[in-house]
Amino acid sequence: VSLGILPARGQSIAPYNVTKRSIAPFFDINYSVRLYVDVKAWRPLGWNLPSNGVAYEACGHIWFDEGQGCLRVENHPEGNIYVRLVAGTCFRAECPVCYQKWAAREAGQIEEKFKRLSRNNAEAEVPGYGRPIHAVISVPEIDAFLMHDNLDLLKSKIYAIAGQVGIKGGLSIFHPYANEKMHEETPEKILIDKSTGDFDLDSLRKYYAKLDKHINFWYVRPHFHIIGYAPRDYDNPENDAFTPEKISSVYEETGYVVVNLGVRDSVRNTAHYQLSHAGVKKGRQTVCWFGDLSNRTYHKMNPLPKFPPRPHTCPKCQAELAPVRWDPQAEVRAQVFSVDNYSSTECLDLS
Ligand SMILES: [Zn+2]
Ligand SMILES: [Zn+2]
Repeated sequence: VSLGILPARGQSIAPYNVTKRSIAPFFDINYSVRLYVDVKAWRPLGWNLPSNGVAYEACGHIWFDEGQGCLRVENHPEGNIYVRLVAGTCFRAECPVCYQKWAAREAGQIEEKFKRLSRNNAEAEVPGYGRPIHAVISVPEIDAFLMHDNLDLLKSKIYAIAGQVGIKGGLSIFHPYANEKMHEETPEKILIDKSTGDFDLDSLRKYYAKLDKHINFWYVRPHFHIIGYAPRDYDNPENDAFTPEKISSVYEETGYVVVNLGVRDSVRNTAHYQLSHAGVKKGRQTVCWFGDLSNRTYHKMNPLPKFPPRPHTCPKCQAELAPVRWDPQAEVRAQVFSVDNYSSTECLDLS
């Protein structure tokens, strides 16, 4: 069940003053219409949420006669073979079986990009940049059509606004939709997008309420989640770009609302959660790097080289795992501890 547009662990402790307020009210005040969409319907040319496409045959399939294993039974306390089974995965955002693995892998790559800059954990400070923060920039109603007509223009507007509030670079993840919590009143005019499904919102709401099911309904409300660096200058507030005053002057000038959700406890978890309900569209990258962290300029920040993939090791004797096969009919004294991803060369933490 989705928790809506607010990050699950958004209230991290900031070393500086962060305006702690819900971003939800802004989604309500600057729109006159709330256009509901059936996000489970697949839109071949439009914006989708992850997981509503079609899986391949091998997605989620587990092979019970091969895996990654360690045969050094003499080094294992119980004398058993250790085996890690493998499961097929396509790592596609639209796959209903594999989308969490897609999100985990993307989040891992995001974490690494920050780690290579801080030479420490992803959340650590980079000299001249500070610690990564999470910010949300929401698009005013008058520009919402750009998400369909000209996403590149919309993104360049977002990056210009990010620059105005002192975000020097980072990644953006586009969210075309926001959702409501059940029983919340809807102040704007209600419309249903018939192209994505003909559903009766009121009777569905009543039905779910009777079952006590907390189902979120989604509506069009484009916004961008940003994880990036916004160095502050507290000693000279006149030079500090990310003040509440600056944010309200940007709003008055442009209609775009910037919300600073503060520094991160975990870049990886924040990214994973934001990816899980990100906009997915054919031919569009879900994660886009901009500013000093754009693919063109990242190297100027003097990052460490890419980390080599960590091989899986045996938890009993720490030896590197190797491919193993066995006769599925034969009795094998194997201890199966976990299921790995078949096409993965990277070490994934799916916990
Ligand atoms: Zn799949
Ligand atoms: Zn071993």
